[in-house]
Amino acid sequence: MSDARPVAAADSQTQSWWDATRESRLLVQHCRACGHHQHYPRALCTECGSLDIEDVEASGRGTVYSFTVVHRAPHPAFTPPYVVALVRLEEGPVLLSNIVGADHGDVRCDVRVKVAWEDLPDGRKLPVFSLES
Ligand SMILES: [Zn+2]
Repeated sequence: MSDARPVAAADSQTQSWWDATRESRLLVQHCRACGHHQHYPRALCTECGSLDIEDVEASGRGTVYSFTVVHRAPHPAFTPPYVVALVRLEEGPVLLSNIVGADHGDVRCDVRVKVAWEDLPDGRKLPVFSLES
């Protein structure tokens, strides 16, 4: 087993999202028909079924919807303890991510967070979040 963090490969549905991460831009999909925002990238709007969707840049700000502190890592790439969180972006979608740069005892539901970026070996970046000061 490699010690590198396991990360999904880009595919035809997620390529533009991953490409934007190389420039530290966090994209979400926006439905032109109903205004719904969604993440992860899909072929149609999960709210109304429209195919008229576009990528838009998210603010990168949100709040912790829920979280857990992991004390036993499932893979050698992760050093416990660390925080896995569901982050609700200002635009609405929820991302599964990490809270970094904070004492895990300071993480609470509803605290404000902003995106940070973790470099991946292939030039892509992974959106993680830090507490807003
Ligand atoms: Zn829609």
